[in-house]
Amino acid sequence: MEIAGESHELEYVYRRVTIEKRMQSGNRDLEGRVLVIYTGGTIGMTRNNTGALVPTSNSIVKLLRNYPQMHDEEYASKSFGDDGPLVLPITSEKRRVIYSVKEYDKLIDSSNAIAEDWIYLAKDIKRHYTDYDGFVILHGTDTLSYTASALSFMLNNLGKTVIVTGSQISIFEPRSDGFDNFLTSLLIAGNYNIPEVCVFFANQLMRGNRTSKRTTDAFKAFHSPNYAPLAIAGITIDVDYRLIFRPQTLEKFDVDTRLCEDVTMLRLFPGITTAMIRVAVQPPTKGMILQSYGAGNMPSNRKDILEEFRKAVAEGVIIINITQCSQGTVSAIYETGAALRDAGVLSGSDMTPEAAYTKLAYVLAKPEWDLKKKREIMSKNIRGELTADQRSPRKDSDLLDAVARNLDLTSQNDILQLRNILFPGMVGSAIMNQDIEKLKEIKQYGSDFCETNADLRTPLHFAASEGCLKVVRYLLENGASVHLRDKFDRTPLIDAIDNDHHEVIKLLVQCGAHISGCGLWLGQRLCSAAASGNLKKLVSYYLAGVNLSERDVSGRIALHFGALHNQGEVVKFLLDRGADPEAVDMLGQTPRQLANLASANEVIELFRPVSLSR
Ligand code: ASP
Repeated sequence: MEIAGESHELEYVYRRVTIEKRMQSGNRDLEGRVLVIYTGGTIGMTRNNTGALVPTSNSIVKLLRNYPQMHDEEYASKSFGDDGPLVLPITSEKRRVIYSVKEYDKLIDSSNAIAEDWIYLAKDIKRHYTDYDGFVILHGTDTLSYTASALSFMLNNLGKTVIVTGSQISIFEPRSDGFDNFLTSLLIAGNYNIPEVCVFFANQLMRGNRTSKRTTDAFKAFHSPNYAPLAIAGITIDVDYRLIFRPQTLEKFDVDTRLCEDVTMLRLFPGITTAMIRVAVQPPTKGMILQSYGAGNMPSNRKDILEEFRKAVAEGVIIINITQCSQGTVSAIYETGAALRDAGVLSGSDMTPEAAYTKLAYVLAKPEWDLKKKREIMSKNIRGELTADQRSPRKDSDLLDAVARNLDLTSQNDILQLRNILFPGMVGSAIMNQDIEKLKEIKQYGSDFCETNADLRTPLHFAASEGCLKVVRYLLENGASVHLRDKFDRTPLIDAIDNDHHEVIKLLVQCGAHISGCGLWLGQRLCSAAASGNLKKLVSYYLAGVNLSERDVSGRIALHFGALHNQGEVVKFLLDRGADPEAVDMLGQTPRQLANLASANEVIELFRPVSLSR
């Protein structure tokens, strides 16, 4: 494997920074946290003594720290001290981006990338998933689309933004496109919830598995030939939320890093021989991407070739037909294309070669699926990689047109504003009335359940604080995100905890919701719940996966307060979940000692070791 290790130079410090320090600093900007994984590529290369470009270790962070557009030194040191993370200057985006760079020990030219590198990246994202809002991967351009495509399949039920980017000119050179690509990727990853593996290049955010490298020399190195960009970065960053592929499931994020090595690619050309095809499909080949002519055609006068494909399919090889053209889709409109289909070759629709190849490697590696299921999945859209079904046209224009006409609105801007006012209001009222039928109707009008109101609250925030389990479930099954934070940094999970909706908490956690951030903040809340005997609240935190022994500012855990205030039920609950009666606070006192000092008899009894009767 080429990528061997990682740099710990910039460990993420949120957890180490005390609440007091953040309070003293007076910094109250909303923050988005991004992990940058630096794998190599032109973006960080310098010239060696022969003049060739090579990846250079331990330099990119130094450069960024001295570059005011990429690092606000003053804010960073006030908030995090001297060896803290990097911080972007404030922009017109809502959140200031705090980012750390994880530099791999062996930086590579991406032409050297292999499947193991994708696996390493996928595992790395999983490892850091709960600590960050989004991820940016700095990567060489040559195989960038392969990496983005492979990751899109390996990252199951992705709930956070992952952006792969790079540049045509190194950021160590004065005319680099790298800063723009990197900076905008950071802003998007820290501010927008686009739960896809994306590629950002030359002002366009594209779905990763729809991209291909299109040129070696222009700054616009990538294109997404068959799918519109998800966002365009102009004066503002305009995201087209209708294009985003959101997981619609009650399962949480996970990675599946199994990939089959026995997949090959073959491009038809006029002089191809049966011997060449035979070599390509012979064992151990289990799958092949066939790049045919035009709309999926092959020479109809070459029955010999067709016969080779037929035989291979009969032996269980999955062959996917995609076009050699850089744009468009295969279809069986010509006799020449239909012949391939009849030989058992599957249509790859409008998949890019990179997406088709990595998807087949992913699908073939699943022993739990039989051949029929694998063939079925290859024809289905699983990560937005192909156009399978033409969705029924949305009705939003009908409704908006009608209201706009009545109000005499004509400008596109006014109509957009109307939409932004109308839909959140309709969704909010349907949630309050627990009216799923209404929500279904609104969804048909093109409403996105991740849209936020002025306080950045989403429909899931409302439903979670109201405690409507069936609405929460419906929203989650229809693309709502558990990760969005409102203007006060509250997630739907925090809303559910504050209102002690235990069933909702369980469902949100099942879908990957988690509490991240400062342990002290949690410690204070747990201690205060324990002091007042609020068992229900402690159960809420417990169900949310919080460590019940988080400490408050005086080093005490909830058990100290339960003991001091003689809260028997609370103490029993905490002891049953592993809280330590001998945990020492800043003054050296333990919960057991506090119980004795306060003559908390009920608790003293609970702390007594159970004597074994003979
Ligand atoms: N050969 C380089 C790479 O793929 C090209 C680049 O980064 O643009 O790593």
